[in-house]
Amino acid sequence: MSLDDAQQFASDNYSGICPEAWEAMAAANTGHAPAYGEDAWTTRAADAFRTLFETPCEVFFAFNGTAANALALASLCQSYHSVLCADSAHVETDECGAPEFFSNGSKLLTVRTEGGKLTPQAIRGLATNRSDIHFPRPRAVTITQPTETGQVYTLSEIRALSAECRRLGLALHMDGARFANACASLGCSAADMTWRSGVDVLCFGGTKNGMHAGEAVVFFDAKLAEDFGYRCKQAGQLASKMRFLSAPWVGMLESGAWLRNAQHGNACAARFAAAVSGLPGVSALFPVEANAVFLSLPPAMAEGLRSRGWRFYTFIGGGARFMFAWDARDERIDQLIADLNALAAVAA
Ligand SMILES: *Cc1c(COP(=O)(O)O)cnc(C)c1O
Repeated sequence: MSLDDAQQFASDNYSGICPEAWEAMAAANTGHAPAYGEDAWTTRAADAFRTLFETPCEVFFAFNGTAANALALASLCQSYHSVLCADSAHVETDECGAPEFFSNGSKLLTVRTEGGKLTPQAIRGLATNRSDIHFPRPRAVTITQPTETGQVYTLSEIRALSAECRRLGLALHMDGARFANACASLGCSAADMTWRSGVDVLCFGGTKNGMHAGEAVVFFDAKLAEDFGYRCKQAGQLASKMRFLSAPWVGMLESGAWLRNAQHGNACAARFAAAVSGLPGVSALFPVEANAVFLSLPPAMAEGLRSRGWRFYTFIGGGARFMFAWDARDERIDQLIADLNALAAVAA
């Protein structure tokens, strides 16, 4: 194995495709099938979502999370509306203005948060601050589950948020780029995490969960899904060979890989955090509740890790971020732990 093939924990999208997704794509790769989602795989994938969510939801398949979020939010808003989100939300910090672009100008209004979690009070404060004609009218709230720094909203937190949204006349969107990790973390059903807790629209991430690409936009209120297909097509998000975007979901959902993959990533993160957070100079910046570990490291240790070949991001959440994907290997995690131990010993 060359150095470039050595497993890294910089991002969960450094990983490849899990066997269940790959096999479903291979199975879909026989003969011809109708295009643009009229095929049997796409029907089966949408049905698998309905089974998982225990409700007749409307499901659409987009290529990536930025498009899924932007189009889902656009479907909730007119151009003069606004969307409330955390200051660290991916839609605000990492989507290059796509939500504003695809909604023709609906403005994101950010709230300062701890660990990226919105609260009912924060929403109320922002939504009721102004009601005059000069200010974009609040129409939706988006929460990231788990947050960008790996915290998981509890069901009661989601319910309190959705209750506040109802009172304020706002729709509730969930950016679930790592939705599976949140379900694994809480051990709750996908239904409890979403519509039973008042979520109107979910973007369910497949890429970081082990697929080659693809996020599902799941509407729990069919009315909100009206015309969404046209929105996807206009935005260049309607796959003509749709079966290759939908079949992996069949593999993930019908086999249970979606949850197993997430449980594995979460367990790796917990083990890694427990092993290193006692080292001199090293501490976890955020509670480890999903598959992310953010470490505060002395600069020399961060430098040392990089010179030993490790890659990690420092532009999210401050500190060094380590993400554990479906295929995180124990030996590689042990190497990272050993390198951190060695660097801590030198620094001490
Ligand atoms: C990765 C991610 C997305 C989607 O990103 P794409 O690169 O567009 O697929 C959305 N939200 C969050 C919180 C993410 O981590």
